[in-house]
Amino acid sequence: MAEASRKSQLGGPHTKEATEKGDNLECAVCLQNCVHPAQLPCGHIFCFLCVKGIANQSKKCAMCRQEIPKDFIEQPNLLEKPYQREASEGFDGGYQWFYEGKNGWWRYDPRTNEDIEQAFQLNLPLVEILICGEIYVIDITNNWQYCKKTPTRKRSIKRDKIENLVVKGEAGLLR
Ligand SMILES: [Zn+2]
Ligand SMILES: [Zn+2]
Repeated sequence: MAEASRKSQLGGPHTKEATEKGDNLECAVCLQNCVHPAQLPCGHIFCFLCVKGIANQSKKCAMCRQEIPKDFIEQPNLLEKPYQREASEGFDGGYQWFYEGKNGWWRYDPRTNEDIEQAFQLNLPLVEILICGEIYVIDITNNWQYCKKTPTRKRSIKRDKIENLVVKGEAGLLR
């Protein structure tokens, strides 16, 4: 009787250990290329913001359920420094999106930055974006953002050039 298909045995080698820089790493949480790839002690790699999201919720690796150390968010093991991506990027000659956070202005992560800019270019009044597992409303008309769960806690946002601001860091990662 048939042993018809035994052609592909998955679960093979861990070859693609993904030491390459972020670009080709797919994050198993958001299913997109990793932004600020961070490696957990178990070896799995996700976007920093995605880890932050799961650290707030299940506190376990989304792949293997190993616990995420309590101090991981403060001291993440990042595979690249966020500020390797420098001010050169930006729209219309260097404009980027910032939000007001601890002691000053913070830059959005590159993906969120692009999503907001796209909405801005389309003249949308606001855009909803999933950040850290929560939906944020980015209100472009009023220049503020809030988490949909806590709409009273608003933070200022703005579109500006990085050289006009003292920027503390990016997406919660200190400069
Ligand atoms: Zn992700
Ligand atoms: Zn894991």
